[in-house]
Amino acid sequence: MREKNFKDYHLSEEITRALTVLKYNHPTEVQKEVIPKALEKFDMIVKSQTGSGKTASFAIPICEMMEWEEKKPQTLVLTPTRELAVQVREDITNIGRFKRIKAMAVYGKEPFSKQKEELKQKTHVVVGTPGRTMDHIERGTLELDKIKFLIIDEADEMLNMGFIDEVEAIIKELPKDRVTMVFSATLPKDVDNLCHQYMKNPIPIEIAADGVTTNTIEHAVIEVKEDDKISLLKDVTVVENPDSCIIFCRTKENVESVYAELENDNYTCERLHGGLDQEDRFAVMDGFKAGNFRYLVATDVAARGIDIDYVSLIINYDVPMEKEGYVHRTGRTGRAGNQGKAITFATPYEGKFLKAIERYIGFEIPAMDVPKQEVVTSGKAAFEEKISGRRVVRNNKTARINKDITKLHFSGGKKKKLRAVDFVGTISNIPGVTADDIGIITIQDNLTYVDILNGKGSIVIQAMENTTVKGKKLKVSQALK
Ligand code: AMP
Repeated sequence: MREKNFKDYHLSEEITRALTVLKYNHPTEVQKEVIPKALEKFDMIVKSQTGSGKTASFAIPICEMMEWEEKKPQTLVLTPTRELAVQVREDITNIGRFKRIKAMAVYGKEPFSKQKEELKQKTHVVVGTPGRTMDHIERGTLELDKIKFLIIDEADEMLNMGFIDEVEAIIKELPKDRVTMVFSATLPKDVDNLCHQYMKNPIPIEIAADGVTTNTIEHAVIEVKEDDKISLLKDVTVVENPDSCIIFCRTKENVESVYAELENDNYTCERLHGGLDQEDRFAVMDGFKAGNFRYLVATDVAARGIDIDYVSLIINYDVPMEKEGYVHRTGRTGRAGNQGKAITFATPYEGKFLKAIERYIGFEIPAMDVPKQEVVTSGKAAFEEKISGRRVVRNNKTARINKDITKLHFSGGKKKKLRAVDFVGTISNIPGVTADDIGIITIQDNLTYVDILNGKGSIVIQAMENTTVKGKKLKVSQALK
């Protein structure tokens, strides 16, 4: 049978172009199931693992179905963590880039007022964590009357984190006439109940767990005493010499001590756990994605949903206590068809957790020997060389899609009574530039950002030196971010 192609879904030119730039050539299993049904507006309960392409499975049809002219949000995506909210927002923005889909994320710990201002602008998709989303609803800063699509991502984790009541409260506020899609790796009873209470004949979709994720990961376990773990870690990293590696620990104390040890040994490394500021957490994630360092030491906060293009090695410094945690942690590698390796350190005490994990994943994790000293010694030179060089990021999707886009900063906004049409009118009058070259416009009180597409940023900057917007002379420069 011919391999399915995105063309089969008759997507618009703008979405198709984005998929080409992102190098999404063929739909993954979950996308084959979800995209056609979503386009026909069916409710769905989708059981699938992260790493299977599930974000794009809803992001593609959602971007396709958004009405660009509508100012108020048409889609609400709920996610359990802030990191995931930011990730989903980025995926939707990439896929919707050429259609100029505006997606924003709302989550705690970021100033409410900043999000409130952003929500006043045209926004097609809001991605939020339940607490902050409810806050916006209660304070009237998130309007729901145009919401036509609700996506609940990682519903099982919402339950684990105690968000299920908030999710239910949000659902009750939404228009009844909407499409609801629920994504979950597992379907605990409470999630299932919630689905049946608030969804219309949802279609159950189950994607076998051994899809893209597990087939491409080589699993191994090394038995070790607690006190020997740190020296084992150093030996394993020398022998494996990964391009990039996440080391998972159970507690933030362990993260801190492992991080301190590696840092002391000149590993290029960073750490991530719930005790750090949100801003620091994002900075670390961005730095890892950009290839600024090779080793990330993290608790499970980093394990869920986060899409880092290529992690070659996962080390479970501690065995995860929850069997699902193992799947989520190891799912950070071997993504989208890449090969990956997952090595778990287990003390005899941790053996019982390991047994539960093996029952859950359905196979025994092969035992691996402690690396021999001569192998460690002979690997040292190659290891030192790699650690001193920068990691080359092979596939930065966001960078690729933004390649031809320049964000311009105009020194005037709402207080000068400027509106989006004024910018579109002025810019599309510049010779060689059309309305199709103008992307998302964000107008604040005293400034405006305009995305210029198709590599035409410099033409616009130059022309604006002698051009006014609605009779007003504005300073125009390339925005910093
Ligand atoms: P997710 O399960 O949403 O976390 O996605 C896993 C990874 O697969 C992400 O890096 C996506 O960008 C990538 N991906 C999603 N769909 C496709 C596709 N059709 N072809 C290639 N890569 C994809």
